Amino acid sequence: ATPTALMVGTGRGAQLGILIKGPEVLESTRRVDTVVLDKTGTVTTGRMTLQEVYAAESTDEKQLLRLAGALEHASEHPVARAVAAGAEERVGPLPPVEHFENVPGQGVRGRVEGHEVTVGRFADLAARLPQEVARARHEAESEGRTAVVVGWDGVPRGVVTVADAVKETSAEAVRELRALGLRPMLLTGDNRTVAETVARAVGIDPQDVIAEVLPQDKVDVVRRLQAEGRSVAMVGDGVNDAAALATADLGLAMGTGTDAAIEAGDLTLVRGDLRVVADAIRLSRRTLATIK
Ligand code: ADP
Ligand code: MG
Repeated sequence: ATPTALMVGTGRGAQLGILIKGPEVLESTRRVDTVVLDKTGTVTTGRMTLQEVYAAESTDEKQLLRLAGALEHASEHPVARAVAAGAEERVGPLPPVEHFENVPGQGVRGRVEGHEVTVGRFADLAARLPQEVARARHEAESEGRTAVVVGWDGVPRGVVTVADAVKETSAEAVRELRALGLRPMLLTGDNRTVAETVARAVGIDPQDVIAEVLPQDKVDVVRRLQAEGRSVAMVGDGVNDAAALATADLGLAMGTGTDAAIEAGDLTLVRGDLRVVADAIRLSRRTLATIK
């Protein structure tokens, strides 16, 4: 490979809004046949807002929002930011939290106003939701909203939902990847119903949706695909995507994402526009064709 041609490829990448770690990155891009897309913040904007509040019959909705909002105020997760901001807007200033604990891919725990509060997708609490709240939760998920369970002192008290929007460019990006002969897949820690709704919106097959994956297990999904003989590009934005980005044959980080993701990736998509993934692959194919 002539260094000059690769340098030209790198320069052209910068014009397209792609930062390339080193010219050699373009070589691995060419072999990629599978593109694994993280959902939240990659296919979707990641800017979530609080939607519905479903309190169990004996539960005060204001108290539920106050306790959940207070706890989520201590977390940086996109779901947490939405719950905290929405709660503060609806019920006013939030009380302090003690003994805060973050459980990656699950939710948060802590003590608020003398109660042991949890917010997240903890299965033990979710399984004991009153029937009408469980039904509302399922309906919200089937419409693509993320629903999290709020409980305190060991009792599930209700569900709050947050909505995220699919980026306007995501469906076109998936079409472009297919046109290049690549197989797009969706990977997320979120609920399967929500994940399939997002997949349908952008044109990813339901059997190519891998949902409810814990943050530390995303890297294993990439390894498993590689063991099947695939050459995998991973696109992500979060701290929980960093290991998978580093392990993938090609790691693409959203420039709008976390520093951990950007450091782990081979390429950074400066504007966070997924269509640039196809541009990157086209560019490397063209650059390497020039070299031949
Ligand atoms: P993703 O893979 O989509 O970026 P995560 O692995 O970070 O998602 O989280 C997976 C799921 O865990 C979320 O959809 C949410 O249901 C739950 N969760 C994680 N952190 C929190 C939190 N701080 N508050 C509420 N729910 C949370
Ligand atoms: Mg993400």
